[in-house]
Amino acid sequence: MKMSNMLVSTLREVPAEAEIESHKLMLRAGMMRKMASGIYNFMPLGLKVLKNVQNIVREEMNNAGAQEFLASALLPSELWKESGRWDAYGAEMFRLKDRNDREFCLGPTHEEVFTDIARNEIKSYKQLPVNLYQIQTKYRDERRPRFGVMRSREFVMKDAYSFDKDEAGLDVSYNKMYEAYVNIFNRCGLDAKCVEADSGAIGGSNSAEFMVKSEVGEDDVVFCTACDYAANIEKASSTPEMGEKEEMKELNKIETPNTRTIEDLVKFFNTSEKNFAKTLIYKADGKIVAVMIRGDREVNETKVSNALGGTTEFEMADVESVMKATGAQVGFAGPVGIKVDELLVDIEVANMFNFVVGANETGYHYENVNYGRDFEGKVGDYRNITVGEKCPRCGETITIARGTEVGHIFKLGTKYSEAMNATFIDENGESKPFIMGCYGIGVTRTMASIIEQHHDENGIIWPISVAPYHVSLIPVNIKDELQMKVAEEMYQKLRTAGVDVIMDDRNERAGVKFKDSDLMGIPMRITIGKKISEGQVEFKLRNSSDIEVINIQDVYNKVKEQF
Ligand code: ATP
Ligand code: MG
Repeated sequence: MKMSNMLVSTLREVPAEAEIESHKLMLRAGMMRKMASGIYNFMPLGLKVLKNVQNIVREEMNNAGAQEFLASALLPSELWKESGRWDAYGAEMFRLKDRNDREFCLGPTHEEVFTDIARNEIKSYKQLPVNLYQIQTKYRDERRPRFGVMRSREFVMKDAYSFDKDEAGLDVSYNKMYEAYVNIFNRCGLDAKCVEADSGAIGGSNSAEFMVKSEVGEDDVVFCTACDYAANIEKASSTPEMGEKEEMKELNKIETPNTRTIEDLVKFFNTSEKNFAKTLIYKADGKIVAVMIRGDREVNETKVSNALGGTTEFEMADVESVMKATGAQVGFAGPVGIKVDELLVDIEVANMFNFVVGANETGYHYENVNYGRDFEGKVGDYRNITVGEKCPRCGETITIARGTEVGHIFKLGTKYSEAMNATFIDENGESKPFIMGCYGIGVTRTMASIIEQHHDENGIIWPISVAPYHVSLIPVNIKDELQMKVAEEMYQKLRTAGVDVIMDDRNERAGVKFKDSDLMGIPMRITIGKKISEGQVEFKLRNSSDIEVINIQDVYNKVKEQF
């Protein structure tokens, strides 16, 4: 490509709307332009990178035995009603009607579509396993689109769906996808860590996310400082802290006026937050549920929701419901005598002694409360893990970092195949639901994440595997005949050898050309200037400050060395 022909305009100023480096640089390098909130047009330069990432994804998916497919993005509501997600998906789904008033959506994901394809096309166990994937545009009306294509409303996803005859088959399909993902992110030059993720009410090690560490990430990832334990905060556990064993003292009701918060109580009782247990009241699918955690802890709503069998609607109870359950104003809830459909007790609380709880009476608390003697409930892990706790695997210290999810692999089991009656005939002639897995990669998000990990103050530093061009060829003075002649020859020769070159033949100062080349992140720069009269050019890598003077005969080998 000749720069004079390319529709690209780089920006010197940082666009006001962009908060993170990848977003700023994609706009500044002229890779994309915004159309509306969370909606972007890809310009030629950006599209080249997007395609390079897609091709890496495609090659690795094909290597793993998956077959490429392309489903429609415009989806009839009927399919989603079969799975129950037409209602459950909520406001994130873009919905529309056709001229005959039939309901459709713009696909936010495609489990239903691929389950439908499988039930129509796959009849026998002999056809299994099958893994179908597509690289396609998805639509989600995100509550807060931001950070450019990191969280946009239209984005490119690779989604794959595997169909197996049994669990053992699913394990194989899942592991193949895990390996493919490791290869994909490695080839993209992205340092992505695989972490255990929440898999809903199914539980177990059935879901993993590929996370990129990032200060602007929207997920919290729990890491062990000693072993390789890593999990999304939604899922992460720890070795619970067990209270010192004490003699159980007599239960005692105490008047505690104006003590609604843990802070007030700590002052009043002159003791630590760890001697209190909070009782929080929720509404879950119409039921009233109380969750008890230690005074200094936070409830993990994902864990609670899973313990309740995967609730779809889950929120803090309103004042009226709290009054009904406790007979008291907000701030005095406790487990003794509470009227709720379910009482969930965090394992730490079940192992505390002589602690303080609300007395379900306005202005009163109980002290010397003990699990088992004074109340009982469903004991489990219902809280968020915090920095400094002990790893559930090795007992060493845990730390927490922010991360961005670039990929997700998930064992679905029969969730969709049962709901949608998608079956095959097994070895014994019996009809069985497919055992499914689903596997997503945010392709546009991956692209932005690569920039987050590969840039400096001058711009992007693309890994060669995804770079829009490999070489930036810069004749310093386009009016100099010799410079232009050599540049033209080098351009043709490199291109013929399969090297993607952009030649900056604009009538601009060399400094401007260098700046643009750096901003766009082209991995190699060849400058043809005055030394050309001695048959020499300058060679520079984007990720180094060294400039080498080389003979034009050596250019080809020098370039090839970089791949
Ligand atoms: P998140 O928690 O970030 O919203 P998700 O759990 O909704 O992600 P999935 O449904 O698993 O995401 O989608 C698969 C992949 O698609 C994600 O791993 C992510 O890389 C990408 N993705 C999801 N939502 C967006 C978005 N709004 N913009 C860009 N990429 C996205
Ligand atoms: Mg989401």
